[in-house]
Amino acid sequence: MSWIADRTRAFDSSGIRKVFDLAAKMKDPINLSIGQPDFDVPEEVKTACIEAIKAGKNSYALTQGMPVLREKLQHRIDAEYGHVNRRVFVSSGTSGGLALAMLSLVNPGDEVIVFDPYFVMYTSLTQLAGGKPVVIDTYPNFRIDLAKVAAAITPRTKMILLNSPANPTGVIASEAEIRGLAKLAAEKNIVLLSDEIYRSFCYDEPFVSPAKFNDQTLVIDGFSKSHGMTGWRLGFVHGPAEVIDTMVKLQQYTFVCAPQPVQWAGAVAMDVDMSRCVTEYKRKRDLIVSGLSDLYEITRPGGAFYVFPKVPWGTGGEFVAEAIKHNLLIIPGNIFSSRDTHFRISYAAADKTIERGIEVLRKLAKK
Ligand code: PMP
Repeated sequence: MSWIADRTRAFDSSGIRKVFDLAAKMKDPINLSIGQPDFDVPEEVKTACIEAIKAGKNSYALTQGMPVLREKLQHRIDAEYGHVNRRVFVSSGTSGGLALAMLSLVNPGDEVIVFDPYFVMYTSLTQLAGGKPVVIDTYPNFRIDLAKVAAAITPRTKMILLNSPANPTGVIASEAEIRGLAKLAAEKNIVLLSDEIYRSFCYDEPFVSPAKFNDQTLVIDGFSKSHGMTGWRLGFVHGPAEVIDTMVKLQQYTFVCAPQPVQWAGAVAMDVDMSRCVTEYKRKRDLIVSGLSDLYEITRPGGAFYVFPKVPWGTGGEFVAEAIKHNLLIIPGNIFSSRDTHFRISYAAADKTIERGIEVLRKLAKK
């Protein structure tokens, strides 16, 4: 159709939509495809949102975020990093922060380094901004090879995108990898954009942000995964004040603000202890890994709530099609990658569902 703008043709989201369409048609699927927690929003956070609505806090929020939330975030970030020039603003989900970062920083023709496999939006949003994704392969163990990154840097490199713990692999970059990347970005004057949406889901070691080693690091984060609030659209971004000011300017003419009542609830969410949910997910991680690792090649994930095993036969697409015939919904690796050799399991599900999934996968491995 002649109405459609060229920039929208740079990428295609039909692969993931196909999986969702299939899911909608399946009757009671064993669903291990969903990238969101299976726990509900904490009661006190729900109450805070309802009270904010009832108290008439329903108008536009300040573009940069309501003081009740923004100041609390700023305080926490200052306590963690102590960077004089680090500012935060409240975004419409982590996705909103990511889109604004791309639009604020990437010029047409600029190169953005992403690690393959990657979260689906990274390459698409880079292209939407007119940038060129430069994809660095991290198979088979999903580690970051600093020499490969250094070799990929050109005079057009504008940004490196890091996601640790990662979607879709669950892998956590080591402190040495993170420090090396942070130093490299500083040396070359490249933006290091750190997507920390899974930072609270670290099972074996504490979370490390590259902002610890590079005070210019731009961080995007949010409440979707940490508090089971994916539908509430609440995120935040912190980084150098000039970048944040530019992103807020763009937010004013795009998203406008994150929903005001949700921001009041977000301030309450910051004080809720979610560690029980994290302990539960660590147990689920162990359940799925021990249930599959004798039959599947798996890089043991240290965080998030995904596992990314290699398919035992065929392509990712062929294997997932067979899984769907057995009522199991998982995601083929090529949604996140230029390869089609793996598949993503989300274990953010009830134990019973995970157990049923393991049973089907064990059967399929032996086919
Ligand atoms: N980054 C990553 C790595 C994600 O997995 C997701 C959600 N799937 C997002 C960002 C977006 O999250 P939000 O709901 O905050 O927009």
